[in-house]
Amino acid sequence: MSNKTLIIGAGGVGNVVAFKCAMNRETFGEITLASRTKSKCDAIAQNVKAKTGVEIQTAQVDADSVEELVALIREIDADILINVALPYQDLTIMDACAACGVDYLDTANYEHPDEAKFEYKEQWARDQLFREQHIMGLLGSGFDPGVTNVFVAYAQKHYFDEIHTIDILDCNAGDHGYPFATNFNPEINLREVSAKGRYWQRNEHGEGEWIETEPMAIKQVWDYPEVGPKDSYLLYHEEMESLVKNIPHLKRIRFFMTFGESYLTHMRVLENVGMLGIEPVEHQGQKIIPIEFLKTLLPDPASLGPRTKGKTNIGVFVKGIKEGEPKTVYIYQVSDHEKCYEEVMSQAVSYTTGVPAMIGAKLMLEKKWYQEGVHNMEEFDPDPFMEELNKQGLPWQIMELDADASLEVKEV
Ligand code: NDP
Repeated sequence: MSNKTLIIGAGGVGNVVAFKCAMNRETFGEITLASRTKSKCDAIAQNVKAKTGVEIQTAQVDADSVEELVALIREIDADILINVALPYQDLTIMDACAACGVDYLDTANYEHPDEAKFEYKEQWARDQLFREQHIMGLLGSGFDPGVTNVFVAYAQKHYFDEIHTIDILDCNAGDHGYPFATNFNPEINLREVSAKGRYWQRNEHGEGEWIETEPMAIKQVWDYPEVGPKDSYLLYHEEMESLVKNIPHLKRIRFFMTFGESYLTHMRVLENVGMLGIEPVEHQGQKIIPIEFLKTLLPDPASLGPRTKGKTNIGVFVKGIKEGEPKTVYIYQVSDHEKCYEEVMSQAVSYTTGVPAMIGAKLMLEKKWYQEGVHNMEEFDPDPFMEELNKQGLPWQIMELDADASLEVKEV
């Protein structure tokens, strides 16, 4: 019997998921792409048909409404729902999946629209409900979160008895030719980088604690293979929340992302003038939210695809012990923006998110990764996922470094 797959969200990531599901049609069966703006789904469906020959269906849905979602899921009789809309829709979509008894997957954790804060709490709270409904929810199946969690699980399984420190290293060395633009949803992107940094470590009593830093206050230069040395800044990133729970013996975890000087200068100016604000302001009798207005002005991330050149490199630098000896391992993946665009008409940031979303859903449908309840990526056997990455366009590398290799971190 053929599966039925429902994808929600027709942005950069939704485009990649639609292409990649179509390219793995024997698993995904009948594919429907639904979003708030149906014309975007239709445009993607046309491109998928032209490039792969596979016909996908489209639909309109407001994913803030559980009722609308339930009606659509029932109409399609979906077996799995891949949520690549925005993090604001995670809870309504999870609730609709629970109401219909359908498996769920997403790539970003829930964020309240009125509060620049994201955490797994409310999604994890649905674990019991998902168990009662005998369905699975896979959270954060993008690149980071997603592949980075799987890289850590792979290091844990094959290279370490105990993992002590993890540094996640995320570099986008793509150039789109604009003085300033964001590579995915500008609101989410800008909220992420203007927030305070945070990392986790165990104190002298062995208790884990989160240490907060000023935005962009801690930096190191990492020599990314196939890219070169780049300034990388400490940020809070959501995969750390689940990894501190699921990796025993962990003593510290940090996340670093590269930013160019020009990008940071634009960001500082926008922040100083109030353009990153999420509270409504009064403008000539109308209420506007500054960051939403900014989004209107900035290039649509989907339009960056054909213009972006260069590479991404995202990986994990892991230290710990194996058979009593110290060990350091670096696992990373390099993607090329132009090659991604050539294949599926999206640049590498969308590609590196959409491919893992498809792989997570594929493993769920094939029951290679299947457990009732709500789960994070590192809870599953990393091997089938790592194999699929190599087959589906995200080949990875692993390097064993000197046991005493480390990052040279400094305060800016
Ligand atoms: P886009 O903004 O390009 O696309 C989002 C899509 O969701 C749009 O089609 C939008 O519709 C649709 N949407 C928004 N609100 C609703 C709603 N209420 N009902 C139905 N559809 C809605 O985002 P991206 O494609 O770049 O990102 C998609 C997701 O991937 C985000 O959650 C993002 O955080 C996540 N992500 C994860 C990464 C990872 O590595 N884990 C990396 C990058 C992104 P409309 O066109 O009408 O606005």
